[in-house]
Amino acid sequence: MEKFLLDNLEFKVDLDALFEAIRMDKTDDDAETVIKMAREAEAIARPKALYMVSYIDEKGDDYVVIDGVKFVSHVMSVNLKDAHRVFPYVATCGVELENWSNSIEDVLEQYWADVIKIQALQHASKAIDIHLENCFKIGKTASMNPGSLEDWPISEQEKLFRVLGDAREKTGVVLTDSFLMVPIKSVSGIKFPTESNYENCRLCKRENCPGRRAPYDEELASKYGLFFSKRL
Ligand code: SF4
Repeated sequence: MEKFLLDNLEFKVDLDALFEAIRMDKTDDDAETVIKMAREAEAIARPKALYMVSYIDEKGDDYVVIDGVKFVSHVMSVNLKDAHRVFPYVATCGVELENWSNSIEDVLEQYWADVIKIQALQHASKAIDIHLENCFKIGKTASMNPGSLEDWPISEQEKLFRVLGDAREKTGVVLTDSFLMVPIKSVSGIKFPTESNYENCRLCKRENCPGRRAPYDEELASKYGLFFSKRL
């Protein structure tokens, strides 16, 4: 079994992106505090990612067995129709930044810290893509995440962590009883090679989602056999 822990990631806050995200000008009175927080975060941050190379044992119309664990999802079975190898993963901003942000009392500063943690998480996620490309040259990939779609509910998170094995020990990411991850700025899922432009969001009808990366695509949803009942 091949498993990779990426925990030596140098993290620098992208100040331009940070100021843009918090809609603050660098000449603002609070800018100095923001920069100070960014430097503090850089000094302690240890974003981490863990991923592994897993193999598909069996597929059915609405399930896929990966490394002996049965995931129940029709969308997954369609997405992995031609795949034999997949890459389960978890990435996190890290407990160090989580603890740092938990010690902040000011609400505005908590928000700035949140944006910094998102950058750290994105850095860890990107590290997986770079490592995957360097080691396996698998080309284009897409990702499915438990809880993103009704078809693959959040309760399947436990199975994903079962496949990942020692994710908690290696990354510090803990699953709560309701299958949420702590630190909350963590992401988990299964990457798979594909030539399509698969995005969970294209099959998701959630309105006003701040994280939406692509518009809902009704035609695509019907191709996947997802028929949503009409809202009354
Ligand atoms: S629209 Fe939002 S909730 Fe739906 S899959 Fe995309 S990010 Fe997730």
